[in-house]
Amino acid sequence: MGYKKVCFTCRKAFSVYKNEAPKANLTCAQCGNTTIIFSHLFKPPKQNDLKRWQVVEFLKDHGFVYQRIYETYTDSILAGQKGYPETITEAKKFILKYKDQARLLIWDDDKKEFVRVG
Ligand SMILES: [Zn+2]
Repeated sequence: MGYKKVCFTCRKAFSVYKNEAPKANLTCAQCGNTTIIFSHLFKPPKQNDLKRWQVVEFLKDHGFVYQRIYETYTDSILAGQKGYPETITEAKKFILKYKDQARLLIWDDDKKEFVRVG
């Protein structure tokens, strides 16, 4: 399992595997812009599906980078895994409902995963 680096300029996702490189190269292979790291669960919309990409970007801006989201989320219980919304209207509700699971994330380059801060 790895993660995906996502370029919002090209609207593309590139799979990266955990042990592929000692240091993550966050540059988009196509346009050279800096990509954003998403979980491997992310399935990119079609490149010309601007609406869906807007939803993805909106979610990302609110701390949802396709990490697993749970219906029940406490220190000891994680249950009822939730799918990600596909429209802005759904996304707004989703963000409100699951804001406790939004991440203030930093990318840990050693662990090759997001680490929650705060
Ligand atoms: Zn790009």
